Amino acid sequence: MSIIKNPLWLLVFLALTVFSMATAIATATPPVLVWPTPNPAFSNGATIEGFVQAAASGNPRSGLYGCVRNGGTKFHEGLDLFGLEFDENNEVKDSVFSVLSGRVALINKIPAYSDYGRYVVIAHQQEGVSFYTLYAHLKSVDSRLTLNSEIKGGSRIGRMGRSAGSYTIPKQRAHLHFEIGLKLSRNFQNWYNRKSFESPNWHGQWNGMNLLGVDPLDFFRSIQSKKVSSFPEYLKSLPVFVKVQVHYSRIPSFVRENRFCLVKKRLNKDQIAGWSISFSKYGIPVRWEPLSASEMKVGTKQNIQIISYNSSLKIEPCCALFQIKDQSIKPSKLLLSHLEKLLAD
Ligand SMILES: [Zn+2]
Repeated sequence: MSIIKNPLWLLVFLALTVFSMATAIATATPPVLVWPTPNPAFSNGATIEGFVQAAASGNPRSGLYGCVRNGGTKFHEGLDLFGLEFDENNEVKDSVFSVLSGRVALINKIPAYSDYGRYVVIAHQQEGVSFYTLYAHLKSVDSRLTLNSEIKGGSRIGRMGRSAGSYTIPKQRAHLHFEIGLKLSRNFQNWYNRKSFESPNWHGQWNGMNLLGVDPLDFFRSIQSKKVSSFPEYLKSLPVFVKVQVHYSRIPSFVRENRFCLVKKRLNKDQIAGWSISFSKYGIPVRWEPLSASEMKVGTKQNIQIISYNSSLKIEPCCALFQIKDQSIKPSKLLLSHLEKLLAD
């Protein structure tokens, strides 16, 4: 069962390709993307050893995005970058910069509140996409930075450090944890309230559980090689991995905030019975198609049905979106958790 062989999927793909080309033509000068630290190694074409901070294993690949931790069993949702400048106590002190212009969405000054430690989130909007960049484990946040203020790409956010909530980052592994991605729901608090967490949600919709990061290095490389010219274009370039169908008669906040993903079709709001959602390999819901009742293949309202998957893409063990067992295909806990939040409105 491969979506590549599905003619319906091809039609949608063609329609979206035309749509994205039209969007690209309408776009003015692409925004300038700035590397988040002063280290020039990436810009100079160095290999990852020149800028990526390894985890305890010492393998630089463990600082990349993906199933790179604990022998491939643990997901790392960002990119770890080491510093080049140190003070007299051997503490890192490199500046950290906002990679794009945006708005300061969160400043967490209390490291104990999060495993991100002291962190800043910048919200960005481009071409019908609301996305974030996140800068974690900071030593300090720039005193001029205020919540909701506009910030230019390349402006200083703070200093690199090794702050973290429930664990300690040793001096020699101090780094910036950098993320770029999308939030699952504007109404994340609804989801949080339904769960019995021991602590309050200190970070609102910028809680790590509501954030879906993409591969930052792949994004920077795609911009550097001119494969894409913006983050929205990058999202549109991500291959679809799995397509699911769910009952949901409203328009989720994710779709409202990320119009790029909506498959355009003639369907009134009150005719929406459910959605077909296409996810990338790492769980980014890149395409949403509203469905009428007659288009729904799902038997009961509780069911989430996997419609198709792209068999040419390898399943990542630490963040599998589905399991195939006895010739039947089931959504994984991770995919169900994403859907719970995406449909939390
Ligand atoms: Zn990290």
